[in-house]
Amino acid sequence: MDKALAFWLGSCLGSFLNVVILRLPKGRSIVSPPSRCPHCRAQIAWHDNIPILSWLLLRGRCRRCRKPISPRYPAVELVFACLSLALWLRWGAQPLWAGCAILASGVLVAVALIDWDTFLIPDELSLGLLAAAPLICSFNPIIAGSAPAWYSPYLVCLRGAAVGFALCWAVAAAGEKIFGKEAMGGGDIKLLAAIGAWSGGLGAFDCLMVGSLLGSAYGIAQMAGGKLKRSDPIPFGPFLAAGAVFNFFYVLPLGFPFV
Ligand SMILES: [Zn+2]
Repeated sequence: MDKALAFWLGSCLGSFLNVVILRLPKGRSIVSPPSRCPHCRAQIAWHDNIPILSWLLLRGRCRRCRKPISPRYPAVELVFACLSLALWLRWGAQPLWAGCAILASGVLVAVALIDWDTFLIPDELSLGLLAAAPLICSFNPIIAGSAPAWYSPYLVCLRGAAVGFALCWAVAAAGEKIFGKEAMGGGDIKLLAAIGAWSGGLGAFDCLMVGSLLGSAYGIAQMAGGKLKRSDPIPFGPFLAAGAVFNFFYVLPLGFPFV
């Protein structure tokens, strides 16, 4: 029962993420007005706005004008529903932390797709994640579980942010020297600082490694397929976000509370 609930809540959050991804870069409100068809501007009724299902039932078309609606909307809902379920299965015994990890993953999914679309990471998301870290770090079972003192989680959080910032800044500076162009932007640096604050210094390092690996694999595959030239920019945020979500499962050793 709790698993079905995690999946369903995840799909609803995914539906909200679609709104955030669409409206935040344009500076529009994410709470009002209600969703409309991008073609005919008809307001979408609640029964046509049920995550995943409505898109399938309407066969990917608007009820009024029958023009196609992007399959990305149900895809985001489905992926985030699965991710929420997976995080619940991993952390269900610590429901408070499970909730934090699910919400943070939602922010990371929004970061990934906004950066993919616009090559920008909104400060509201990266700095918001950074500001939330000290509020939730004592719920993190990996950090707090082995912490010798009450303030230890806050130290891990602070050091993690500093390490994330410094690591990403160093890689960005080195990249600019070697390739003579901007490989990573200020948005990536703020994002990795936030990720460090959530998962510690070694977590930030792991995330940068996983992100670089995924980003290079994508770049090489696209260039091999002739879809991308060497000079074409690739946003790095989606790969860092993937690394950060991967961190939430604590597969790699993170070395808490020493880093
Ligand atoms: Zn329409």
